[in-house]
Amino acid sequence: MKLKIETLAIHGGQTPEPVTGAIMTPIFQTSTYVQPGVGENKGYEYSRTGNPTRKALEDCLAGLEGAQYGLAFSSGMAATDTVVRLLKSGDHVVCGNDVYGGTFRLFDKEFRRFGFEFDFVDTTDVKALEAALRPETRLVWLETPTNPLLNVSDIRAIAEMLAGRKNRPLLAVDNTFATPYLQRPLELGADVVVHSTTKYLGGHSDAVGGAIAMNDTALYERLKFMQNAIGAVPGPMDCFLVLRGIKTLHLRMDRHASNAEAVANYLSDHPKVKTVTYPFHESHPQYAVAKKQMRNGGGMISIVMNGGEEAARKLAEGTKVFALAESLGGVESLIELPAGMTHLSVAASPLAIDTGLVRLSVGVEHVDDLLLDIEQALGKV
Ligand SMILES: *Cc1c(COP(=O)(O)O)cnc(C)c1O
Repeated sequence: MKLKIETLAIHGGQTPEPVTGAIMTPIFQTSTYVQPGVGENKGYEYSRTGNPTRKALEDCLAGLEGAQYGLAFSSGMAATDTVVRLLKSGDHVVCGNDVYGGTFRLFDKEFRRFGFEFDFVDTTDVKALEAALRPETRLVWLETPTNPLLNVSDIRAIAEMLAGRKNRPLLAVDNTFATPYLQRPLELGADVVVHSTTKYLGGHSDAVGGAIAMNDTALYERLKFMQNAIGAVPGPMDCFLVLRGIKTLHLRMDRHASNAEAVANYLSDHPKVKTVTYPFHESHPQYAVAKKQMRNGGGMISIVMNGGEEAARKLAEGTKVFALAESLGGVESLIELPAGMTHLSVAASPLAIDTGLVRLSVGVEHVDDLLLDIEQALGKV
């Protein structure tokens, strides 16, 4: 039976525990497993290599992405790092020019030192992406919608463009902002999906984690080998927290989106706000692509204030329900200034962020409280 994503969010990868019947996957808080004989085991030998709580999370994530395989990591950056290690010195990567600041930092400050080459291009423009490809391009790295500008790239159009090339590079999509409930990149032609499970998948701002999902068996075996060899694995408690968070993914994402839509509409009519970016708002430059590849617009909004950085600061420091904090995707609403907080690592780079930009992670509180909070904070600007 092919289960729908709402059902997979609750049951994917999970079966009642056989000894006691416990319906929840236990937190197998163990580093090692007693072996019945030398070289024999019951599927687990050491928890860097494998752990039953982690396995349940990996299978659950794979199910959500419509993938054959899932792998869990200790953070989104650990997952990203592992994908890039598929390459070798001299290989070239084409990456979006508006990606998570930490992704840019890892590529630009770490991997360049090892002889990897990167070009950062506007991936919303398939022609620009195609023009950046070289014979030695082995990886195309997309983020959509992007953090923090919410640019949307057409995954299917890019996959089709790449499909026609000899020596086709791998297409990886960071699906953190959309989650598999809104968008499934593998079904649109991507090879690898990467997540920061810290965000919407975990959903409660209580764990840091990452994941990779894929269909190709050889690719899975290579990445699984690296997961064990490198050791950036999540602990069982964090796997449990993410598994538990995922059970309400579909409920949360629908509420995040309806709240965000209301907030985006309110902000776009406000005289102190210059621009509002929300993927499902008609003013979004890739509105049609967003509508085609996403189920809803998600919970993230970016705005630029008329009064620049000063106004942006006043707004972010003036909210009471929206907490001033980095990160996103939890049930609680957050507000931040990317240029001075999450995206400091791209300051003074070509990817630098407008200092008047404010990023909102709209939570699942009552929408009236969120609107009133923004109204009172804008009053102080
Ligand atoms: C947060 C984030 C990451 C990094 O994930 P961590 O869990 O913080 O390591 C990667 N990509 C995107 C889009 C993110 O928002």
